[in-house]
Amino acid sequence: MSKQNLDAEVLFSQDVTEKENVKQILNSNEDQVAHSYWNKCLQIIKDNVNTQVFKTWFEPITALKYTDNKLTVKVPSQFFCEWIEEHFYPLLQKTIFQVLGENAKLQYQVVVDENSDNLHSRMIKVPAFKYPPASNQIQLPFADMPSLPESFPTYLNPRYTFDNFVKGESNQLASSAALAVCKNPGTTRYNPLVLYSETGLGKTHLVQALGNAIVRRYKNLRVLYTTSERFTMEFVNSIQNNKQNEFTNFYRSIDVLIVEDIQFFSGKEKTQDNFFHTFNALHQAGKQLVLTSDKPPKELVDVDERLLSRFHWGLIADIQPPDYEMRMAILKKKSEDEGIELPPEIVDYIARHVKNNVRELEGTLVRLIAKYTFDNREMNLDLAKEVVFGITNFEPKQLTVDDIKEMVSKYFKVPEELIVSKTRKHEVALARQMAMYLTKQFTQLSLKTIGSHFGNRDHSTVLHSCQMIDNYLVTDRSVKQSYENLVQKIKHE
Ligand code: ADP
Ligand code: MG
Repeated sequence: MSKQNLDAEVLFSQDVTEKENVKQILNSNEDQVAHSYWNKCLQIIKDNVNTQVFKTWFEPITALKYTDNKLTVKVPSQFFCEWIEEHFYPLLQKTIFQVLGENAKLQYQVVVDENSDNLHSRMIKVPAFKYPPASNQIQLPFADMPSLPESFPTYLNPRYTFDNFVKGESNQLASSAALAVCKNPGTTRYNPLVLYSETGLGKTHLVQALGNAIVRRYKNLRVLYTTSERFTMEFVNSIQNNKQNEFTNFYRSIDVLIVEDIQFFSGKEKTQDNFFHTFNALHQAGKQLVLTSDKPPKELVDVDERLLSRFHWGLIADIQPPDYEMRMAILKKKSEDEGIELPPEIVDYIARHVKNNVRELEGTLVRLIAKYTFDNREMNLDLAKEVVFGITNFEPKQLTVDDIKEMVSKYFKVPEELIVSKTRKHEVALARQMAMYLTKQFTQLSLKTIGSHFGNRDHSTVLHSCQMIDNYLVTDRSVKQSYENLVQKIKHE
């Protein structure tokens, strides 16, 4: 992976000097301490997540060192550490505090290039952090916040940029509008800019990219990224602490206000009332508002009509799930950014099977890379299938075609004699095709040999059967479910 691919918040390892290098070797004791601390953490984590999650996300992490109350761990990619931060932050934080005390810090080191001779040139360090902090009142000693431009806390995450956002038909309007806004905040027709979509389709990415671009372009503008929940919490706090004036003044001093997930304003009348007035004041002063929601504004319930009607002053744009071509483009871009070139058939396989949203696509890719990097697996279709269907640790060689026949026969309640017979009855044919498919996937046998185990069929019949199942996996939920159940059984065999 090349260094220019990495985001700005990442500290490069050049700052690890030779001296430190030597010191590090002398301090192998510290490494042992780190191992034992991390093992304790793993014990706790193991009790709090399911086995699958533990294997995918925590087992690949290894401890590197422990100094100054800071535990450094190695993770396979930047993606990986962002993913665990996003999904397991509270658990990690609690665990680290429990094992190392409340002032402890966690730092990730990302493996950049396993093949490099120089240990340090293949590592980058990423402090554990989270944007925005859970509450403005709790400052997390855990989080090493990277320094932000000016002293104004924007709560933007610099990882989101327009450069690493893939534009396509499904987000055309939303992304063009966001770009237009970042060039001329407050003065375009897109004020407010309201983006809506189902989860995982890029709302957060786009509005953060917009905020980051404005901060970079207009150094003197105050950009604030927040969520409706955070706004609500701060509002309630301000009432409790008699700080309503400060609250109001603060929000009115902002030039670009980004508020995510406005659906959570639903039913919170007082907060909405305050937000409505903030909205008006900012809009009148020519300040930019950017909002996101998980549904079209007209479907928001218990949200002030006055506020909803204001949205039509600007632009309401939706983001649709990505189509096949865009899923391919996203996978290519993200794997390139990770410094890994995926064979086209793998990109195609994932793009055909992981369809709901970009977050899932990303998750699949992270798991694929983790397995490739840490388990030394070959990058091939079988690995992709395993990752897509969430299977781990099976031993392909130990399984025989007879095991599979038996399992499939029991599962579909079709006698084994029928599976290898000439019968074309649908249930029997399906069981047969499934058994061939699984044999192909979980054994090393050739199509020809597989055919010989299924009533002396020839290799093209086996191939056809496998293609049938491949199609079913995309088009037929119940077949997909059967496949997944069988794979689970194989895994536990
Ligand atoms: P939402 O806020 O709509 O739930 P996010 O912005 O959090 O979705 O997106 C989920 C993940 O997918 C993020 O990691 C984001 O970077 C990524 N993502 C979404 N859309 C795109 C895209 N068009 N190009 C690149 N990455 C994307
Ligand atoms: Mg979001």
